[in-house]
Amino acid sequence: MQIVKLGAGSLREKSVPVEAVTDEIRKLAAEMLELMYKADGVGLAAPQVGKNIRMFVADDGSGPGVFINPQITGTSPELADLEEGCLSVPGVYEKVTRPACVRIQAQDENGRRRVVQAEGFLARILQHEYDHLDGVLFIDHIDPEKKARIERRFRKKSEKQAAKGNQAAQKNRNESRSEKGN
Ligand code: ZN
Repeated sequence: MQIVKLGAGSLREKSVPVEAVTDEIRKLAAEMLELMYKADGVGLAAPQVGKNIRMFVADDGSGPGVFINPQITGTSPELADLEEGCLSVPGVYEKVTRPACVRIQAQDENGRRRVVQAEGFLARILQHEYDHLDGVLFIDHIDPEKKARIERRFRKKSEKQAAKGNQAAQKNRNESRSEKGN
């Protein structure tokens, strides 16, 4: 399992609800948390590992949390400006305006209903991760020209990587050909 980057189709798809919280879902949540910590992240949504189901994991520093089929049931009228980044858009940090407080309802890894009232950093993480389940990225909330520049940069990067992959494949083909010649 790996974290997909901007340009990957799963990041732009609307995810479907998790039908039942099974051992398989618990295992996925544990793997996602491990991946998140390894990448020094504070949140990771299933579409970021190529799975379009409605769940994410988060840890604002107070301990790991698993959110399955989350619903935002309330937001404060007060807004906050905070810089955000995303493991799927590495190296990019931009200020985003969102509600300062949020109430979210979800199931935990045992299928139990949980309600979280969050403010500050946690409120920010939960809204960012929730967006991922609807195919929305934090760069959708910034200046459109800036967003277009970021998308262009990532497109170029993936084209370069694809070209490198092709070159390597070509080299392999050539080598196996010359081996055959010997
Ligand atoms: Zn993200």
